[in-house]
Amino acid sequence: MQEAYWEGKDMKDMKDVSLLCEFKGQLEFSERRPEKSFDRKMECESLPPLSRLAICGGTHGNEWTGVYIYRELQKHKAREADSVSITTVLSNPRAVEACRRYIDTDLNRCFTEDLLSSPITDTSTYELRRAQELNAQLGPKGSEQAVDLLCDLHNTTSNMGLCIIFHSTDWLILHIYKYLQSKITSVPVRAIQVDVPLSQAYSLDSLGKHGFSIEMGPQPNGVLRADIFNAMKEAVDLTIEWLQQFNSGKTFEGGEVETYAADKKIDYPRDPTTNEITAAIHPQLQDNDFKLLRPGDPIFLSLSGETVRHEGEELYPFFINECAYYEKGTAFNLGRKITRTVPSISLKKD
Ligand SMILES: [Zn+2]
Repeated sequence: MQEAYWEGKDMKDMKDVSLLCEFKGQLEFSERRPEKSFDRKMECESLPPLSRLAICGGTHGNEWTGVYIYRELQKHKAREADSVSITTVLSNPRAVEACRRYIDTDLNRCFTEDLLSSPITDTSTYELRRAQELNAQLGPKGSEQAVDLLCDLHNTTSNMGLCIIFHSTDWLILHIYKYLQSKITSVPVRAIQVDVPLSQAYSLDSLGKHGFSIEMGPQPNGVLRADIFNAMKEAVDLTIEWLQQFNSGKTFEGGEVETYAADKKIDYPRDPTTNEITAAIHPQLQDNDFKLLRPGDPIFLSLSGETVRHEGEELYPFFINECAYYEKGTAFNLGRKITRTVPSISLKKD
């Protein structure tokens, strides 16, 4: 949406970058690159083996499901599958220790090519140093040495169920998404696609040849819920299972898949003088992530009791009342539902 806003900013300002990326990537769908151009005809594509998998937790130090899945995987290394070698990573150990999202700046906004190649100085943030270490370990980004698949585990305080976030051009992820959707019954499984060039992709999953994040909620920061742990663990196990089946030569049929493409973000109503928020998410919107929002539907309830209603077109809300986005000026995001067509895929035989 606000192209000039994004491009006019100084990339050296990490805090600003973090805010901008929120606009640009997590949730924006660019009009310049129509989604259909990414789709393939219903032919069969063949790909080399996907044998190196990285599973990362604690990229945000107060999102505990990924932290505890990392710890469990560390304990049970022997379960490694023959055709898939698994690297487990605790992405931001200092933030995990402190039970904070980050120490200096949001690590999951540090993986653009510019930031990964910027010189480390005495004033560099902890997270930028860590991003460059992770790039050396799991990348380098865009290179042949990069891991084949990077799966990064996150929680949200929003009622989003299990949500895959992936880059729109990486249609292989849609196969894993289809597989998870067909197997997981305990929670709704959805996908959000991000449309941003790889060089500007800022999230950890962009280090792999293929990558995605799993967002699961609702879960408060610094809290572990068994239902959410179990569903995310199931998704991790199914991802490994999918890779094993792919590497053993199974053909995965193509077809149509529904995803959401981010369109815009909505901030809280604010006092123009103090900038303090003057309304909360309306009870009729709270916890209704991915339920179609129509013009006139309530979105905010002001602290003095007035209802603010949605204006404009019908769109799908998500990340409603996400705790970490208060600092980014986002009350919720709005997006469109899109149908993607993916080709069948199988292993490339020499
Ligand atoms: Zn996170």
